[in-house]
Amino acid sequence: MSRTLKDYNSPLGKPNWCAGCGNFGTDMALKQAMAKLDLDPDKVAVVGGIGCGASMPYWTSCYNILTLHGRPVPVATGIKLANHDLNVVVLSGDGDAYGIGMEHFIHGMRRNANIVYLVGNNSVYGLTKGQASPAAKKGFKSPSTPFGSPDPAVNPIALALSSGCTFVARGYAGNPVQLSALIKQAIEHKGFALIDISQSCTSYNKLMNHDYFLDNNYSLEDAGHDSSNFESALKHAFSVDKKAIGLFYKTEREVYEDNQPQFKNGPLAKHDITNVNVEKLFEEYSV
Ligand code: SF4
Repeated sequence: MSRTLKDYNSPLGKPNWCAGCGNFGTDMALKQAMAKLDLDPDKVAVVGGIGCGASMPYWTSCYNILTLHGRPVPVATGIKLANHDLNVVVLSGDGDAYGIGMEHFIHGMRRNANIVYLVGNNSVYGLTKGQASPAAKKGFKSPSTPFGSPDPAVNPIALALSSGCTFVARGYAGNPVQLSALIKQAIEHKGFALIDISQSCTSYNKLMNHDYFLDNNYSLEDAGHDSSNFESALKHAFSVDKKAIGLFYKTEREVYEDNQPQFKNGPLAKHDITNVNVEKLFEEYSV
């Protein structure tokens, strides 16, 4: 069967983001990537935290779950451990991933949890009316930083590289064709795949519009970067004047489920539990 983008649209309706929101580009790119891979929606679990972009799982026809703020990575890790056959894709905003969920972000990469992490990065907490996120540049003015953010921005790409992430990329939601190609590679990758996605918030970050992104991005491919070269990836991660877009680094190593004794007979979802006395288990673990 050959699927199209529409096969991944939610039967519940269309996304309710503001006009021009970058989430539309990311949503389209994700669905295009799944269609290119002809993935059965029943073989994909889409997990979100809290935030405008983190509601994206709701707008797909795949299995979806919305978790707590900053907590989608451990939930997604658990889903993959329970059923290795599922493709697990996590959606967060920059506040969800690099602020409230920072510790899970780092540990997920350290463990090489076998999941895809798409982080829509617009420098603000859009859902709660535009407070500066940890990804906002020093001096960025927002309702929570009227005199400009006093803090330097986190560098998610450098963090990912130094935390053992095995697939590190940055896309731009205004270029869904390129973003879709990156997401396709990320889904095919075995291991933790991060794509930091530069995107606009038309309501609370007027500064970072399409022209801004065109003027302030450059292509890693055009710069001749080799994604197996860690030192070169680090150099581009710390690029000061403009942000690099594309695949920074890709490598292979053991994934989280490879070495857990609990899974030596297969993932939990495939264990035979016909002889397990569930009532006795409930009694044992209920207070
Ligand atoms: Fe998108 Fe910003 Fe509107 Fe949220 S507030 S839906 S991030 S444009």
